Amino acid sequence: MSKLPKTMKALVKARPEPGLELQTVPVPDIAPDEVLIKIHKTAICGTDMHIWNWDKWAQETIPVPMITGHEYGGTIAAVGSTVKRVKVGDRVSGEGHVVGHVSRNARAGRFHLDPGSRGIGVNLPGAFAQYLALPAFNVVPLIHEISMEEAAILDPLGNAVHTALAFDLVAEDVLITGAGPIGIMAAAVAARAGARRIVLTDINDWRLSLARKVVPGIRTVNPKDEDLWDVALSMGLIEGFDVGLEMSGAKAAFDQMLEVMIPGGNIALLGIPPEPFEVDFSKFVFKSLTLKGIYGRQMFETWYKMLAMLDSGLNLKPLITHRFSALDYKKAFAVMNTGKAGKVILDWTGV
Ligand code: NAD
Ligand code: ZN
Repeated sequence: MSKLPKTMKALVKARPEPGLELQTVPVPDIAPDEVLIKIHKTAICGTDMHIWNWDKWAQETIPVPMITGHEYGGTIAAVGSTVKRVKVGDRVSGEGHVVGHVSRNARAGRFHLDPGSRGIGVNLPGAFAQYLALPAFNVVPLIHEISMEEAAILDPLGNAVHTALAFDLVAEDVLITGAGPIGIMAAAVAARAGARRIVLTDINDWRLSLARKVVPGIRTVNPKDEDLWDVALSMGLIEGFDVGLEMSGAKAAFDQMLEVMIPGGNIALLGIPPEPFEVDFSKFVFKSLTLKGIYGRQMFETWYKMLAMLDSGLNLKPLITHRFSALDYKKAFAVMNTGKAGKVILDWTGV
């Protein structure tokens, strides 16, 4: 084993105010059941933007100081004494929720619903660093073809796959609200999962145009310019959409979805509303709609499915719109804040 450095660079929420600092901090120690991952590439998530911008959620959630980041690809640099399933040098990504193993859900294999779940880069030291300590249980070995950049976007792809596969999509007409990275990924997944028509909405035209590049043939709609019912009818959807995937967290999008769902339709809800909003539940009743909340991704069935989809041709590379050295993190966060970005990658190898 090559000798590990004692210190590393990491992006730290150092003070309770907007921004992050690139600091020199100790390389984390690992417990017997943990691994140390040398981080190659990371991606910036909406969650990281909340932490950067230091909004109300971040102020209430993030202890300071905290190393941020949870979307990453890397190689195993060291393994704890009891770790058997991976070895030094293996190419990996991993689940960012660190879960317990004693709750009812955990013991039933529903680890993502463990009430004691803690997130790296949120409640535990994160991946915007040269090294990350992670329970070996969380590690996901990569198949050879997956690049480190793709590894860095597996976490949000997991959200997209988990949501898109919540209901049967074969020959179904699907409405996705919110063309953020996850909404665009969900459109790509829905197409591969056998959906008939897929409509993706956003109020940001730049993102709709990115969506058309990533998922050729997708019908995008800016609800400010077009009426969703008119679009649905023009595509032959006389009775409405069979499946809705809400990926914006916006009340307006949710209300529009309710209007254009078929009676008996299914809605999967991933988007997190920034604050509570009113819902006309009579629409749910009269339309007999099913609403399913989606949290995280299944450990590790969703990981299996997404790696298999990438292996069989799902191409998300066009979703990566910007690449920066981790040293240029301020530029990367500024690009994210413009809203004119898909996934933004930070490279930690040359730091
Ligand atoms: P994002 O913020 O990049 O994308 C959301 C998109 O919704 C933006 O492009 C925005 O312009 C669009 N939008 C805003 N108002 C709209 C409207 N009225 N109609 C249509 N679109 C509208 O977010 P993301 O990273 O792609 O994540 C998608 C959502 O999923 C976010 O709400 C995020 O907080 C949530 N999320 C949930 C989980 C979970 O476990 N449930 C995990 C990750 C992300
Ligand atoms: Zn994320």
